[in-house]
Amino acid sequence: MINRRKTRKIKVGNVEIGGDSPIVVQSMTDTKTYNVEETLNQINRLYAAGCEIIRVAVPTEKDALVLKDIVKNSPIPVIADIHFSPRIAFLSLESGIHGVRINPGNINDEGKIRELLEECKKKNVTVRLGVNSGSLEMDLLEKYGYPSGEALAESALRWSEFFEKHGFFNFKVSIKGSDVLQNIEANKIFAEKTDIPIHIGITEAGPSGRGSVKSAVGLGILLYLGIGDTVRVSLTADPEEEVKVAYQILQSLGLRRKGVEIVSCPTCGRIEVDLPEVVKKVEKELENTDLPIKIAIMGCVVNAIGEAKEADIGLACGNKSAILFKKGEPLKRVTEDNMIDELIKEIGSFKNND
Ligand code: SF4
Repeated sequence: MINRRKTRKIKVGNVEIGGDSPIVVQSMTDTKTYNVEETLNQINRLYAAGCEIIRVAVPTEKDALVLKDIVKNSPIPVIADIHFSPRIAFLSLESGIHGVRINPGNINDEGKIRELLEECKKKNVTVRLGVNSGSLEMDLLEKYGYPSGEALAESALRWSEFFEKHGFFNFKVSIKGSDVLQNIEANKIFAEKTDIPIHIGITEAGPSGRGSVKSAVGLGILLYLGIGDTVRVSLTADPEEEVKVAYQILQSLGLRRKGVEIVSCPTCGRIEVDLPEVVKKVEKELENTDLPIKIAIMGCVVNAIGEAKEADIGLACGNKSAILFKKGEPLKRVTEDNMIDELIKEIGSFKNND
């Protein structure tokens, strides 16, 4: 069991973050935000994949001006991602957005940030206070020599105190560096000193394969330590992939459950069916199935009986055939040719009967 850090609860639109709420999965669109149709299409696809809060880039006034149409039609709360320009932030706040992400380090104007917080308070807009290794304040860079974990944590603590000193508590913090260890250290230091909800992610993690591994390691360690109230897996890939990987990380730690869980063996010289192909086809077939069940697909009887007992449904393969298991009990023998169809059929009946 993972003991999650006790954090205060905030809300982005109707989605609760922190406290006893489930860890929320976020992503970010990669469309031009001013292209409302494309942006909404992508938001809808991400929502279908399980995304619970969406962030959109707002680099220009043109983007800020269309936010109201996006907010009105989005099935999930919308966060405007603002860098550098308080003017664009104020403009975005007029659109009814549910949250705004700012990095105070790259606005660097306390007066403007205070005004922004006042406006957010008036409009009940949640802020994500971002600290990134790329936009760390000069004095901290001089003090630590480089954007170390301590430096990032100090920046986040400093700005959190600033927010709270001005009576603003409706915020979460994200501290991101692309270095996994730096990221873990920064979040650990910050988490020990506050009860502010934390959004975690390994920024610029890389392309799908490498980025997923890096994110799984970084986020996995933080989540195991109980840190993280909301997550984003950042990949140089389709954002739907980010959502999928985020759920896989959370699911592997027992923190969220979405869709089927597939347990399959790595195969070895004992294999007598084309298991990688079977697993690939089953995964594809079940891509959009949201049934919270565990499926075991094992290459031979060595570990199959044990795994099949742990799973809701399982295939124990061998000699161009397999035994289909359900809830640990053998149901029937199936051939290599029809094992996938039989498994899928059984999953269907599982859905109807269980
Ligand atoms: S289950 Fe059988 S085929 Fe798969 S890795 Fe283990 S021993 Fe090899």
